[in-house]
Amino acid sequence: MKFNEHIRVIADFPKEGISYKDITTLLKNGDVYRAAVNEMVEKIKPWKPEVIVGPEARGFLLGAPVAYALGIGFVPVRKPGKLPARTISETYALEYGSDTLEVHADAIHSGERIVVVDDLLATGGTMAATANLMRKIGADVVGMGFLIELTFLKGREKLVDYPVFSLVEYE
Ligand code: AMP
Repeated sequence: MKFNEHIRVIADFPKEGISYKDITTLLKNGDVYRAAVNEMVEKIKPWKPEVIVGPEARGFLLGAPVAYALGIGFVPVRKPGKLPARTISETYALEYGSDTLEVHADAIHSGERIVVVDDLLATGGTMAATANLMRKIGADVVGMGFLIELTFLKGREKLVDYPVFSLVEYE
């Protein structure tokens, strides 16, 4: 399946110079959405994860169906203040300022095998922070899967400690 034919590219969104990859057009097509999830499932299965972790919000759209297909649990990573029980957080630098991610402190047992799923790998900042957060709570990060990778931003260089795949690359 040529997933890139179903991804809408919008120039200069959300600001000038950014070529935005809009996956809503792919998600709307049931056959393509299912094929993308199935392909991720096939790549993730050999890693034998016990839990899928997805960062807010588009990580939920791919991570949750992957977890469902594998018959394993899903753990959300969220922006600050959204999770009701005790959380652990990780703050990371952005181009301007910083951002924070949180996960429930009891969401993952020490040593549990997890795979992180997200829609898009750009600079890798979000995924590196998610991986740090997972290490803080004792998870064993056995891999990372993305629908899209912007290879020219070299996000993989921040993720060299982990096996990584993506289904669609933009150069
Ligand atoms: P990064 O931390 O730089 O790897 O960026 C990660 C997140 O930013 C991704 O999960 C996307 O949701 C979003 N993002 C970054 N660049 C783009 C882009 N060109 N098009 C769509 N979403 C993007």
